[in-house]
Amino acid sequence: MLEIKDLHKSFGSHEVLKGLDLSVQQGDVVAVLGPSGSGKTTLLRCLNFLETAQSGTMNFDGDLFNLKYITKKEIASVRKKTAFVFQNYNLFRNKTALQNVTEGLIIARKLSKKEALEKGMYALDKVGLSAKYDAYPHQLSGGQQQRVAIARALASDPEIIYFDEPTSALDPTLIGEVLSVMRKLAEEGMTMLVVTHEMNFARNVSNKVIFMMDGEIIETKTAKDFFNNPEQACIKTFLRTYL
Ligand code: ATP
Repeated sequence: MLEIKDLHKSFGSHEVLKGLDLSVQQGDVVAVLGPSGSGKTTLLRCLNFLETAQSGTMNFDGDLFNLKYITKKEIASVRKKTAFVFQNYNLFRNKTALQNVTEGLIIARKLSKKEALEKGMYALDKVGLSAKYDAYPHQLSGGQQQRVAIARALASDPEIIYFDEPTSALDPTLIGEVLSVMRKLAEEGMTMLVVTHEMNFARNVSNKVIFMMDGEIIETKTAKDFFNNPEQACIKTFLRTYL
């Protein structure tokens, strides 16, 4: 479904991604792990064109793109099939939960208001928040706000959802509700690429783990293998810190 080859990204003279290859199959839940500063967020931002890569190719559903020269039209065509969940939810403060979910459907996808409302309520129901449809972000907990952000992602019927540390801004007591929504999506077959420091999620929900270090992917394994048989010393050290 998604295949990246030789992805390079620098900020000035600082090379942050040093030629990454990765592939995601439909139904995969891929956990992207690695120490702080290893390039995980930059990888996700390149995949969704929030950053422009210096070089690399993307094959999305058989369509091949050169990431350096990708056009706005090509970006729009890929973005139609993807959604992004940010660390800090990125909700509109002056819009209700439902309006946050339907805004993109009406403006970008050109759905009728009625269709958008139906889809929006369905998505809010999926994350357990249909009762809060008319609440504003400040009336919701951080966990609820992140669930609205997940509903917004779901409502666009994406083929893959990218999550950038979706629980790291949350109070520890609120992390569980977001992870359980993500677990439910995984069980329903949603394809997900998740940058996370939540090792229990990586271990119990993802089927594949990518481990990054200094801008390189140094390990790609099944989650089971990654956690049960870590081989590289730096991964053992990482797991000792986070488990
Ligand atoms: P963390 O787990 O702490 O979020 P990360 O693995 O996601 O870290 P990135 O946020 O991708 O790492 O950052 C990788 C490197 O790129 C860091 O050294 C960071 O300072 C640098 N970097 C990221 N964004 C920019 C930017 N816009 N301009 C300059 N340097 C940047």
